[in-house]
Amino acid sequence: MIRFDYARPADVPEAIGLGAASHAAYLAGGTNLIDLMKENVARPLDVVDINRLPLSAITRTEAGGLRLGALATNADTAHDERVQQDYPLLSSAILAGASPQLRNAATNGGNLNQRTRCYYFYDIDTPCNKRVPGQGCGAIGGVSRIHAILGASEHCIATHPSDMCVALAALEAEVRVEGPEGERVIPFADYHRLPGDQPWRDNTLRPGELVTAIDLPQEGYARNYTYLKLRDRLSYAFALVSVAVGMRLQDGRIEEARVALGGVAHKPWRRPEAETLLRGEAPSRAVFGAAADLLLTGAVGQEGNAFKIPLARRAICRALEQAAAGTPQSQTDKRIA
Ligand SMILES: Cc1cc2nc3c(=O)[nH]c(=O)nc-3n(C[C@H](O)[C@H](O)[C@H](O)COP(=O)(O)OP(=O)(O)OC[C@H]3O[C@@H](n4cnc5c(N)ncnc54)[C@H](O)[C@@H]3O)c2cc1C
Ligand code: SF4
Repeated sequence: MIRFDYARPADVPEAIGLGAASHAAYLAGGTNLIDLMKENVARPLDVVDINRLPLSAITRTEAGGLRLGALATNADTAHDERVQQDYPLLSSAILAGASPQLRNAATNGGNLNQRTRCYYFYDIDTPCNKRVPGQGCGAIGGVSRIHAILGASEHCIATHPSDMCVALAALEAEVRVEGPEGERVIPFADYHRLPGDQPWRDNTLRPGELVTAIDLPQEGYARNYTYLKLRDRLSYAFALVSVAVGMRLQDGRIEEARVALGGVAHKPWRRPEAETLLRGEAPSRAVFGAAADLLLTGAVGQEGNAFKIPLARRAICRALEQAAAGTPQSQTDKRIA
């Protein structure tokens, strides 16, 4: 590990002042950043520990939604009674990720900003445009089982690894950030980026900006939802494909549907046309299949991950069927007192 300076600011302005330095990194739960530093993948010169900042609360918003503090842990968020009751899709997605110990340490801000799990990104002896711009991409033509089938570029085929973010995309959350130029609110769909020709940029945060909270809208699709995660092991594994569905039904027809995919692109993947197609329809295999085809339009596989295309199609259909039937894949569990 290389030398770095460590600071533990007490308030947000002080943190932003320190975080604006070039080669600075915010440290939250550390479950991703510390691993990256140990592997020499991340080499910040200033580590700004944000754990003393007052950003852990989960509160109601004036609009009737919920504000999740950036430093609320994934465990506290998933087990919050308001989240379980009004946003079970989010609770399910968080509980499908990592392990109880990791979720106790991992924070909401850190979850949004975690880096890809691409093997080559972690191995500094292989080329990776995300780690070293211009170096090339080891995954293209290499081992690509976990890589993207949608929205990839000739420079990078990495996926975003988060489960929580797939649910947040479906719920159309907003990300509240604060930085040297003040505060702003970023719609979730605009928070993460596709790799394009700048794969080293995962998101649209500007230098020094800190995520302070995530706002959930009032509608949580608490009756008809599912988070379906397909992976190599039943637990403690990242998604090969995941699907978050939120749906509202009226008189046996779909009034509104949200579908977001994880494990298939550099960001949670949505396609408004697929959701428009579902609106007004009675739930059926035919209409779910048509929506799946639209969502997967343009999907391209490598030798190692082409299996994801039919897998994703089946997963989308199954998730939509489960949501329409009101039988979610993952039940939220109660924390043992
Ligand atoms: C073995 C293992 C298995 C895992 N499995 C899963 C899984 O199945 N599904 C899943 O979704 N995740 C999984 N994870 C990832 C885990 O969810 C993330 O590591 C965690 O959410 C990161 O949160 P953190 O608070 O520890 O972030 P940190 O490690 O502290 O930070 C991560 C990144 O976010 C930045 N950051 C942190 N907070 C902020 C903020 N407020 N504003 C701006 N930038 C910030 C940091 O600078 C850093 O770049 C797994 C992790 C491990 C180690
Ligand atoms: S897919 Fe992206 S992260 Fe992985 S090696 Fe290629 S450039 Fe790096």
